[in-house]
Amino acid sequence: MGELINVEEIFASKVFTRTTMRERLPKDVYKEVVNVMDNGGELSPAAADVVAKAMKDWAVENGATHYTHWFQPLTGITAEKHDSFVSHPDESGRMLMDFSGKELIKGEPDASSFPSGGLRATFEARGYTAWDITSPAFLKEDATGVILCIPTAFCSYKGEALDKKTPLLRSMEAISDQALRIVRLFGNTGATKVVASVGPEQEYFLVDREKYLKRADLIFAGRTLFGAPAPKGQEMEDHYFGTIRERIGAYMKDLNIELWKLGVTAKTQHNEVAPAQHELAPIYETANIAVDHNQLVMETMKKVAGRHGLTCLLHEKPFAGVNGSGKHNNWSLTTDNGVNLLDPGDTPNENIQFLLVLACMIKAVDIHADLLRQSASDVGNDHRLGANEAPPAIISVFLGEQLEDVVRQLVETGEAAHVLQGGKLATGVSTLPDFEKDATDRNRTSPFAFTGNKFEFRMVGSADSVASPNTILNAIAAEAFCEAADILEKADDFDLAVHDLIKEYLTKHQRIIFNGNGYAPEWVAEAKRRGLPNIKSMVEAVDTLTTDKSVKLFEKFGIFTKAELESREEVLYEIYAKTINIEALTMIDMASKQIIPAVIRYSKSLADTVIAVREAGADASVAADLLKEISDKLAAMKAALSKLKEVETAASAIADAKEQAFYYKDAVKKAMDELRAPVDEAEMLVDRQMWPIPTYADLIFEV
Ligand code: ADP
Ligand code: MG
Repeated sequence: MGELINVEEIFASKVFTRTTMRERLPKDVYKEVVNVMDNGGELSPAAADVVAKAMKDWAVENGATHYTHWFQPLTGITAEKHDSFVSHPDESGRMLMDFSGKELIKGEPDASSFPSGGLRATFEARGYTAWDITSPAFLKEDATGVILCIPTAFCSYKGEALDKKTPLLRSMEAISDQALRIVRLFGNTGATKVVASVGPEQEYFLVDREKYLKRADLIFAGRTLFGAPAPKGQEMEDHYFGTIRERIGAYMKDLNIELWKLGVTAKTQHNEVAPAQHELAPIYETANIAVDHNQLVMETMKKVAGRHGLTCLLHEKPFAGVNGSGKHNNWSLTTDNGVNLLDPGDTPNENIQFLLVLACMIKAVDIHADLLRQSASDVGNDHRLGANEAPPAIISVFLGEQLEDVVRQLVETGEAAHVLQGGKLATGVSTLPDFEKDATDRNRTSPFAFTGNKFEFRMVGSADSVASPNTILNAIAAEAFCEAADILEKADDFDLAVHDLIKEYLTKHQRIIFNGNGYAPEWVAEAKRRGLPNIKSMVEAVDTLTTDKSVKLFEKFGIFTKAELESREEVLYEIYAKTINIEALTMIDMASKQIIPAVIRYSKSLADTVIAVREAGADASVAADLLKEISDKLAAMKAALSKLKEVETAASAIADAKEQAFYYKDAVKKAMDELRAPVDEAEMLVDRQMWPIPTYADLIFEV
């Protein structure tokens, strides 16, 4: 019998939930809070004080000593500065723990050391954090004690967004307003808002912590910068969905419990394609909360790993030659009276609202493919997208047979008279049930796939925040809905107008639809013929943010100002340059201080052997040949190391952020590859006992 885990009881036990609020707040204050949470607006100062006190009391009863405004600066991870509830003692020396409404609502961390991309000079240090009432406060427990975490947005003195949450919240309002106009056109007067929902599937690697600590590249870069392939990779396809090993299972169990306590609906867990790779998926929820929760998932994955003598690697490509990690971002839109705008029903050909929404999405993705690509780019993801593995860097939409057929009919004739049905799946075994098939098979190669009642954006990197992709999805959908509503609201004959519009959009933008194999080289040529963008790297994607088309989109819906976009570009170039710089310096360090000395030691032992064997009068040719081979590799390493140092120095001297980032991409990365090659070859030759760092086999097969 397993030990009993009362999931219902522990779930959200560390969250200041609506239930907790209802229990602890006076009725009128609770009502006010819920109203602001659901409909926007501001809490009155009096109510804020009451909420703050209740929140503090709850936190203190659960062991908290500090609170923090928890925010998401442009670093892509979260930030926190703790303040204790300690207040000034009174004359008798007695101190009462204190937390005011003001402290709950607004914080003022020194913002000068966060990336701002020129939005704020260092001397203008002021930045504000503002309570995001739509995402629940929670308790974080670690060696520091228990900390009350209040999700916040982070803005400059002038109100410019310095974080990833503010634009996301703005985009959620935009998509809600515009999607509402669409459902109203179809007679849905009951809905008061439309919510973007997100379910991010998180992939990760686990390695043994002792071994991890022996690799400077894993410590500093989060990925291996050297490493010959192990004799076995993922070719046997025996890891995916394989039995979960005991040590990993114990980790997953702990991880789930921690996440459940934080109100994260950890749902699915399994082994992924590569050895030592795994996945966790929660149940989808409101985009904003999903983004916050995904940050908690990543953080908790790392924290819990430590307890099991493991280290969690979230990098997109920790190991060359086996699969990297991504994050499938499932996205849909639902009205507050329960209609999923992306649900086709059984007969999508007759579901005009769905067809309009689908046509708008196809148009949006086609027009803004470059922005979507950008939203999924980060330094690590360059190793996946358009590089050695899928999904490809080219954005296309997968619809599946059923919808593709409907779209084809609409484009050809303007009518979709019939619809392919799934039918029965006959197993051929009398004792197994025959069951209803889905009308559409899966396509794992598509970067943007329609999967039944949602879109699955599969390009996102495993280490990245999902804020940007969802901000972009919401924004581009809002624009398409807005343009459609502008036309349809004025139409004399609505049925005719909507029919024409669907046909027009699908005809104009059908080039973005691709149901074939996204990994095939022919697709690259075909996409080029169709005029689809193929943006190969993060740095090449950066300036899609400030094209006229993008600025117009973001300003129209108040999601980003031009200055905010420009600042983000600057930050992205900087992040890229800094990351590659760290990688290059780490390689230089490892090659100079560990690898080359080890190879020299090995060649010395070979040389000794050659001399000794010859002296003994025997044939030393094998050792001599090996010595020659090793010496050649050593020479190649030394030359490549000098070259890397040279370009690295040149890179650091470049002042312009964009120019520097491109130089890192073109010159420094090339020099890094050129150093890695002879090192990896040498690793295959050198005595295993003498190789100074754990190998791929040690790292991914012996967890
Ligand atoms: P798979 O790996 O087969 O694609 P998973 O079960 O691992 O599927 O993950 C699917 C994710 O999509 C889950 O997070 C799930 O909650 C989410 N999801 C399901 N329906 C929706 C929806 N309507 N909107 C957004 N996300 C959804
Ligand atoms: Mg999955």
